Amino acid sequence: MIFKTILICVVFSISANAWAETSTVEGSTDPANTVYYTVKPGDNIGSIALKFGSGVGEITSWNKMESPEVKPGDKIVVKSSEKVEEKPKKALPVVHIVKRGDTFESIAKRHRVTIKQVQKWNRRVNPRRLQIGQQIRLHIPGRGGETVSWGLANKGRLYNGVAMESVPGMRVRNVARAYGTKDTLRLLEAAAYDVKARWPDAPDLEIGDISFKSGGRMRPHKSHQSGRDVDLSYYHRGNVPVGFRAMTIETFDAAKNWHMFKMLIDTGRVEYIFVDYQLQKKMHEYALSIGYTAEALEPILQYPAPASSSKGIIRHSRGHDDHWHIRFTCGKVDRNCR
Ligand SMILES: [Zn+2]
Repeated sequence: MIFKTILICVVFSISANAWAETSTVEGSTDPANTVYYTVKPGDNIGSIALKFGSGVGEITSWNKMESPEVKPGDKIVVKSSEKVEEKPKKALPVVHIVKRGDTFESIAKRHRVTIKQVQKWNRRVNPRRLQIGQQIRLHIPGRGGETVSWGLANKGRLYNGVAMESVPGMRVRNVARAYGTKDTLRLLEAAAYDVKARWPDAPDLEIGDISFKSGGRMRPHKSHQSGRDVDLSYYHRGNVPVGFRAMTIETFDAAKNWHMFKMLIDTGRVEYIFVDYQLQKKMHEYALSIGYTAEALEPILQYPAPASSSKGIIRHSRGHDDHWHIRFTCGKVDRNCR
């Protein structure tokens, strides 16, 4: 699934080697496949969670920690065999009994699948000659209660979406509009913890829209349909908590925003981040000043390529001077996710 597009391949190849390192663990059912890690100076629970693709909550519970704090030298479980459960589950088959007035279209709509899928699962059925009592086979994701991002971000669904809760470093604006996949929530939460550990005075970021509990169209957005798109406020210089306010080169906190984006991109789980072009320029200058080469920045930032180009994971898109928009890649459990 990760290799679906060229862009994602680029993301994957530059991503932190943590995912590759632990890839032998994935899919194994051997309970001995627990990964331990010795905490190094500069680490915090958020950065460790991001590095190993685990959640802050998971790490604290595996290690029975009372608070999410770690210190150099601690040897902790960072990946447990519990995670092996997260494999794509085959959607449970469901039989729909045809009632008066049913069409493939109405059946598809009722069960939130596409007409094409109903056709695919019922090749021998002639849609023009449906008979009352006839059995139509359907495979519906999420019937086992699992969270699934389904379809495209701008034409998709979220099954059993999970509500993002406010965590240290991030505040949810409207819970009803902040449902996502478990991966989306896990990644955001870990990133929030990391920034808070590095800059305790950083104001909370405001989380705007993610998706509805069941996904689907969320006005005024085109995307935000499958639990993998998130709108967030930027860090303002001087730690001013501003929420969604238009940033300028002067007010934009390049260090914190760059750190947040880079750390998320390094997980290999980011498809795009939409950031205003001028603000990208500021981050480009900042990244050069802390030792990145222009070459190293090329796959990450669209700037200095034109704003209309399809270069970089961080890209310009109109209306993103007062918030950034991140789209995560499909997770391992997401069936038919594109
Ligand atoms: Zn958005």
